[in-house]
Amino acid sequence: MSRFSIASLEPDGGTECYADLERKARAVGERLRRPLTLSEKILYAHLAHPEQDLERGSSHLALLPKRLALHDANAQLALLQFISTSIPRVRIPTSVHTDHLITARNGAAADLEEAKRVNEEVYKFLQSACDKYGIAYWKPGAGILHQIIFEQYAYPGGFMLGTDSHTPNAAGLGMLAIGCGGMEGVDVMAGAAYEIKHPKIIGVELSGKLGGWTSAKVKGATDHIIEYYGAGLSSLSATGMATIGNMGAEVGATSSIFPYTRSMGEYLRLTGREGIAREAETEGEWYLRSDKGASYDRHIQIDLSDLEPHVNGPFTPDLSHSISTLSAAAEENPSWPKELSAALIGSCTNSSYEDFTRAASLIKQASAAGLVPKIPLLVAPGSEEIRATLERDGVLDVFTHDAGGTLLANACGACVGQWERADVVKGQRNSIISSFNRNFVGRQDGNSATHSFVSSPEIYASKDVFFFRQQVVVAMSYGATIHFNPLMDSLPLPNGRTFRFTPPAGNIWPKQGYQRSLEFYQPPKNDEADVQLEIDPRSERIQLIAPFEPWGGEDAQEVETLIKVKGKCKNLLIGAINSENGKVNCVMNRLTGAYGTIPSVANTTEGKRLISPILVIAERDVACDIPAADYDKISGMGMISVHGLKTFAPGCDLQVEIVHKDGRRERIPVRHNFTARQVNYFMAGSALNVLAADADK
Ligand code: SF4
Repeated sequence: MSRFSIASLEPDGGTECYADLERKARAVGERLRRPLTLSEKILYAHLAHPEQDLERGSSHLALLPKRLALHDANAQLALLQFISTSIPRVRIPTSVHTDHLITARNGAAADLEEAKRVNEEVYKFLQSACDKYGIAYWKPGAGILHQIIFEQYAYPGGFMLGTDSHTPNAAGLGMLAIGCGGMEGVDVMAGAAYEIKHPKIIGVELSGKLGGWTSAKVKGATDHIIEYYGAGLSSLSATGMATIGNMGAEVGATSSIFPYTRSMGEYLRLTGREGIAREAETEGEWYLRSDKGASYDRHIQIDLSDLEPHVNGPFTPDLSHSISTLSAAAEENPSWPKELSAALIGSCTNSSYEDFTRAASLIKQASAAGLVPKIPLLVAPGSEEIRATLERDGVLDVFTHDAGGTLLANACGACVGQWERADVVKGQRNSIISSFNRNFVGRQDGNSATHSFVSSPEIYASKDVFFFRQQVVVAMSYGATIHFNPLMDSLPLPNGRTFRFTPPAGNIWPKQGYQRSLEFYQPPKNDEADVQLEIDPRSERIQLIAPFEPWGGEDAQEVETLIKVKGKCKNLLIGAINSENGKVNCVMNRLTGAYGTIPSVANTTEGKRLISPILVIAERDVACDIPAADYDKISGMGMISVHGLKTFAPGCDLQVEIVHKDGRRERIPVRHNFTARQVNYFMAGSALNVLAADADK
């Protein structure tokens, strides 16, 4: 059996073999006595226990990923947790990427230097921890984790995790990649399996060919893998498929997957991974595509030729407008600011050579007619490799010189609320357009009054699929209003004539290949014995973690609720709406009666008493088992007790006793979805305690 290194950069990081993967997947298929989808083949080839139950939508899979990637925002805690297990070295190839903490303010060079200054203690800690525990470290300036995974680590038929929801970007190279939480990342670093409910699978059959303005980008559904196939795949580039995988996260898909295509082979060869391409082509014929007759839980057909560009928003990528209906939608919504104040392109979603060269072709058209964008154009390349390639080929110059755009650092920046604008003050209503993947309130500039539109995801007429394009954003920077339809409308020229864009054209691949860049890469160390962790004892951001106490053996009694959340929230509850008062990040301190932010109240000490334990009630999921009437009985200002913990086990209901404000008590039965392993974590006080104990055996 021939094997290949799963990362050419890291020859000691493990090998892979398609014959081996096929043997494992075939064995499961024979047991199930049915043809397999591509998603199933990859999942089943990575099962920790191949004999386990395999019911889509109900079985819990225990999977062994081949790789893990973390970004700097959650790697800090994840590494501190890993350190607390005393395991000497990660047990799975792992990389850390410093992309989320770089503020977009004055342009690439200045912003990068400022980030190094402001985050010095974080970067020093991450770098030293990576050295000590055998982890690859990508320094500030290297780029965004998903782009680097695509350039360096993704391979067809592989299975990996990343501590970020857009990890399925790796689907562009046929890799099944799932976004997980930081704690799950710690589990797999410690050698434990990754547990997930067996996803259902949506089959999307593509036909036709993409038009000039539209291009590949997609959608799916919660707890499903979206699996693509069909003749239309041949008109999609590997990088275009990566964007589709990336955007799948916006519709809650667990992941997306594509069978091996010629374009994947071309990209692998261009990025120094010819060996993997060769193996996929000679050994992966059965494993890298679904079986004939494989069944899907849902099936969708799309003719790529029918797609029209969309602009979605404001405030949610679900609010979809085709480019031809956007102007009318703006008329119907008088509160939307109609003038655009900025246009942003790039990020991990839209940083392919094809994306940039196509967008540059529009700028060249406009420049030839004497036009420049009317609003600031900000360009955020996904990695140093793509930035350097665009610079070498003169493409970057088109954006910065011809269009007067600002080059931002190779980082998340404006995509993750780290955009410090000088042109708009907080609270000032304005509209922006970007080719990023998210546009929630404050997502770009932290200003809740910024109406952010993304172009797209475009939602296909069936409401089942997104398609997406960077070029729309660039073209709209010349119209500078959401009434401008670059496909149909003309712009006035000083000479009295008018100008209209023709469809963009670009190159899928750089003719001279990619400008490979390892300037910001620190490989995993093999001999870490002498490495000292760098933790500043005065740090307010980093400190070693002491283990939690094991469960004391008693039911939880009269625990006070910190907040009952209304709607969805992220980022450690800072954006959570309190269902009691409708306010964001505003809860009552029960000890004082005063209101404060959620973190400040959670950390309050009164005398020597810390408010503990803390109970957070999440929004009721419509798919959950607790009846709405019971859920509504739980107040954000009450207390609850939990009974039945002594017999806590999978499938065994618990009892919640609600203590109302007037002192009344009532009991309701509740279900839980803890697996046996998770129950064990609870009993031990944390997953870390279990992992640490296992490491000692
Ligand atoms: Fe997430 Fe945006 Fe960064 Fe991509 S660029 S990893 S979507 S924050």
